Amino acid sequence: VNGVAGRYEQAYEYVVVGSGSAGSVLAHRLGRAGYSVGVVEAGSRGEPGLVADPLAYGRFRGTPCDWDYRSLPQAETGGRVHAFPRGKLWGGSASVNGMVYLRGARMDFEAWAREAGEEWGWEPALRAFEELERGEPGRRALEPEPLAAPSGWHEAFLAACAQRGFMARHTFDDGHLDGAGWTRLTLRSGRRRGAHEVFLLPALATPQVEMHGGCQVLRVLFDGQRARGVECWDGDRAVRFTAEREVILCCGALNSPHLLLLSGIGEPDELSRLGVKTVAAAPEVGANLSDHLVTGVVWAADQGVPAGPTAVVAFAPSAGHVTGSDLQLWLNRRRHSARSDVGDDSFTILCALVRPASRGTVRLADGDARRPPVIRTGYLTDKADLDALVQGVRLARELGGAESFRWAHPVEAEPGPGPAGDDELATFVRTSVSGQHHPMGTCRMGGDDRSVVDPRLRVRGVEGLRVADASVFPTPVATGPDATTQMLGWRAADLILQDAAGHH
Ligand SMILES: Cc1cc2nc3c(=O)[nH]c(=O)nc-3n(C[C@H](O)[C@H](O)[C@H](O)COP(=O)(O)OP(=O)(O)OC[C@H]3O[C@@H](n4cnc5c(N)ncnc54)[C@H](O)[C@@H]3O)c2cc1C
Repeated sequence: VNGVAGRYEQAYEYVVVGSGSAGSVLAHRLGRAGYSVGVVEAGSRGEPGLVADPLAYGRFRGTPCDWDYRSLPQAETGGRVHAFPRGKLWGGSASVNGMVYLRGARMDFEAWAREAGEEWGWEPALRAFEELERGEPGRRALEPEPLAAPSGWHEAFLAACAQRGFMARHTFDDGHLDGAGWTRLTLRSGRRRGAHEVFLLPALATPQVEMHGGCQVLRVLFDGQRARGVECWDGDRAVRFTAEREVILCCGALNSPHLLLLSGIGEPDELSRLGVKTVAAAPEVGANLSDHLVTGVVWAADQGVPAGPTAVVAFAPSAGHVTGSDLQLWLNRRRHSARSDVGDDSFTILCALVRPASRGTVRLADGDARRPPVIRTGYLTDKADLDALVQGVRLARELGGAESFRWAHPVEAEPGPGPAGDDELATFVRTSVSGQHHPMGTCRMGGDDRSVVDPRLRVRGVEGLRVADASVFPTPVATGPDATTQMLGWRAADLILQDAAGHH
């Protein structure tokens, strides 16, 4: 495939690569502003019934709608390989995710402002969340809502949190992630309603926005240092699309750095070793990979938690010296791992480390765009993460052992009953922890020269190329990234439209 120069098929003012959480919102807004937009998406449309079905979550795993990546074995997690499912379909990961919609924390955006300037602080983020969630002519509101029909299990979880002294929260929309309360979900009348339904599909109904599905971008094409378009493989042949104004990568935190590296933007020595010609030296492309880490305590019980999305969560700091909540806890039906033989009559309190210190990398295997990226998770390489998760397991154990769950006659199955010291719990964490499928940060945005994109999301060292997706997060957000990534797509449109109008 590489080196096959297809003919130019079509020219657009903007070429948006990837139609996930960010790409859907961005394509919608650029089209709405009157520009011609070509969306190039590697995946197919997906089965609409499956995408819409909130209980089908997980059924796409290993299908052609999943990039289905695997990490290298991670020594700190018992040498295990970690799975990275990623949506490969219209709507990207937003079409297959768990539908939990939580705005990032105020504290997260204060950290972003330190890295990338006040424009990325909490107040502008809040404004963008509000605009994103509201409807407007030609577009329904996103307006995520709490679960319509909660069960006694949800009440039991919240009661356990109240017993443990968690503050009751009606929403977390104000960016203060503490206490226990209700999530909002990209779910309406029993059907998924996320970025794909609210932004992408209405955009595709207009003449401004065209979709090229089943078309994987292999590299960005440059004229000198200026991005001119993209070269793709549509399954049979090479195809090229011209971008008269800009190419914007919205391929997600694993594929955007992969595509930059394939396009010659990365560490020059590494690129030349792999036979890729350097276009711009950018040593941090693919560095700074973060992910939320999750483990949990499992109880066998008289009954099981019914299937459904995560409707209630709790946030807490793992230790007195920690600023802000670094742990998120929630109730889950499925056992966390296959370590015990607990069946469906069970429940799990999962705990996730949402402000991890460990970082990993995304690299090229070689110059062949069809080879998956090489992922080093870095999980637990910072010992502080292990310590925090040990405290998380203790907290999960307290919650599941609370009075409010007694009616279900729970018996702890994992890690197992009896006292457990720090060392035993650390071993449990190492052998049970997994990623939460929330990769972020691999094309870091910053005000400094080493950052991959500048605060206007422009790739440093070249012209006409931006990245707008979860890869530009300078530091992780402490919630699932979907809401923040959509917000970022919204903000990216503001920046691109301002620049197009010569306002900057
Ligand atoms: C199983 C699962 C459950 C999750 N649950 C939640 C949750 O409940 N709440 C939450 O907040 N977050 C959740 N997430 C994470 C969240 O969905 C993602 O962080 C978010 O959707 C990322 O958005 P993105 O725009 O960065 O990338 P994506 O949404 O992944 O979009 C990237 C798009 O680019 C396309 N693409 C990639 N490479 C190319 C290429 N070379 N050429 C053409 N197209 C390309 C992909 O096919 C995809 O459509 C979950 C993720 C997964 C996988």
